[in-house]
Amino acid sequence: MSDCLFCKILAGEVPSDKVYEDDKMYVFKDIHPKADVHLLAIPRVHIASLNEVNDEHDEIMAHMIKMLPRIAKEQGLDDGFRTIINTGKGGGQLVFHLHIHLLGGSNLPGFQ
Ligand code: 5GP
Ligand code: ZN
Repeated sequence: MSDCLFCKILAGEVPSDKVYEDDKMYVFKDIHPKADVHLLAIPRVHIASLNEVNDEHDEIMAHMIKMLPRIAKEQGLDDGFRTIINTGKGGGQLVFHLHIHLLGGSNLPGFQ
């Protein structure tokens, strides 16, 4: 996906502040943080949104979900954290490469 911003980040063509990576996922700091800690976790394969997730992605999706608590703890979020997946224009999705927002810290805004 040559025109995908997050694929460019994965390829190192666009700089990012890396927090964690492995063979399936990449985690980096959101450029406009909405909390003390605001990370984006993305699969290495291009999946446009949650709408495009299928059986082929079972292993990747399970892995990402399982890794999030460990990554949150490594960021000092011992009390807990929030995850958000915006899906489609109606869900507020702006970048069409699936990403899980991981937010936490003392400045976590209310969710109303
Ligand atoms: P969405 O609304 O698609 O769920 O969220 C996209 C997120 O990507 C936003 O929180 C936005 O701040 C972040 N973002 C957009 N462009 C960049 C970028 O170039 N680098 C980083 N690190 N984050 C970005
Ligand atoms: Zn992509």
